[in-house]
Amino acid sequence: MDIILLGPPGAGKGTQAQRLVEHHGMLQLSTGDMLRETRKADTELGHKVADIMDSGGLVSDEIVSAMIDAKLADMGPETGAIFDGYPRTAAQADQLDGILARHGRKLDHVIELEVNEEALVERITGRFTCANCGAGYHDVFKQPATPGVCDKCGSTEFKRRPDDNEETVRKRMQEYRGKTAPILPGYEQRGIVSRVDGMASIEDVTHAIDAILTR
Ligand code: AMP
Repeated sequence: MDIILLGPPGAGKGTQAQRLVEHHGMLQLSTGDMLRETRKADTELGHKVADIMDSGGLVSDEIVSAMIDAKLADMGPETGAIFDGYPRTAAQADQLDGILARHGRKLDHVIELEVNEEALVERITGRFTCANCGAGYHDVFKQPATPGVCDKCGSTEFKRRPDDNEETVRKRMQEYRGKTAPILPGYEQRGIVSRVDGMASIEDVTHAIDAILTR
């Protein structure tokens, strides 16, 4: 089963994708994570990607679609893909259709996480992750059980994304409204869109997604 998790930054796509990986053995394909790897490299592309990400703008459709294509080429047909943060534009949605067809796959569900935008700024600016295992936390909503120690792996190193500041977040929301939300009607016409209340608890959102996948 291949699915898209759609929603503005901070809607919980990454969190839910990680849970789907754990519960269903699917693979998370996050273009944001792939680009965070790309930007680490001291290359022209790495610097260009870093500048775009820090401004809250979008990286070129060709670059991200090529990344997705390469990941799918390495995946067996039996492993389901969770597209997280991709597609983000109409062109990427078209490219994804072509890529899936080439790999003999098809899109089963587009799950939209519906959220209140104002609450997202607080969600995003407070979030941090374990530098070792990537487990996600939040200053207000989800501190580790022992302060300063990762619940999952015991590491004491944490990190924050450089683009999780209010100014960049507002620009990322604007990009979502202007370029990403308009791809939904096309998927709606195909009858594959389901909506989930992304303001519910992490657990409840996971249950709602599971119910969609097993129906
Ligand atoms: P994310 O981790 O999904 O919030 O993505 C972080 C940043 O990476 C975005 O603000 C964009 O600059 C870039 N990015 C991630 N995915 C895409 C995509 N599909 N298309 C263009 N830019 C992307």
